[in-house]
Amino acid sequence: MQEISIDAQAKIAKISPSVSGNTLNKKLREEYDLFTPSAHGVNVGMGGFMMCGGHGWNSRQFGLGCENLLALDLVTAEGKLIHASETENSDYLWAARGSGPGFFGAATRYYVKLHERPPVTKIKWRTVSARSTGTRSDLVHRCAAPPFRAILKWFSS
Ligand SMILES: Cc1cc2nc3c(=O)[nH]c(=O)nc-3n(C[C@H](O)[C@H](O)[C@H](O)COP(=O)(O)OP(=O)(O)OC[C@H]3O[C@@H](n4cnc5c(N)ncnc54)[C@H](O)[C@@H]3O)c2cc1C
Repeated sequence: MQEISIDAQAKIAKISPSVSGNTLNKKLREEYDLFTPSAHGVNVGMGGFMMCGGHGWNSRQFGLGCENLLALDLVTAEGKLIHASETENSDYLWAARGSGPGFFGAATRYYVKLHERPPVTKIKWRTVSARSTGTRSDLVHRCAAPPFRAILKWFSS
């Protein structure tokens, strides 16, 4: 059920609904140096994230999850499998971008917009990743680490 296929040229990922943000972005990082906004909770499914609006990593730069939903395949209430995009069955795409539990079909595949991987994509508790370059961001790391060390010291004193 965890299907991911990437068209790096067109910058589109076709995914099954249960694929988590972490699974998708790990593959994008390791194999393509690409990225798409996903939930701050790494195991959150991309399907519910995008259909519920989706405010995630780097959304200030790349928009909400639903803005990165380019198209979907879905089964309608009448039992028909259709494709919805901005040019085909566009009402369904419009509804999928944020209707969440109110959506009136069952999505089977999502087509997600991809971006060039930015230098910083997520902040962990004690470290800052700058994974597209393969190095830590020294500047942000220096800013983030001392307060955490101070808090730990305070707890253990
Ligand atoms: C630990 C954690 C961290 C989170 N962090 C963020 C965050 O940073 N940003 C953010 O925006 N949200 C966040 N969320 C909320 C998260 O985006 C929603 O809970 C989302 O619904 C989870 O996705 P899911 O695929 O598990 O969806 P589900 O909970 O399975 O589904 C949510 C709704 O979407 C609809 N839906 C889902 N899949 C389909 C489908 N295939 N076809 C039709 N309808 C479908 C259903 O109607 C369902 O009611 C977080 C949630 C958790 C638990």
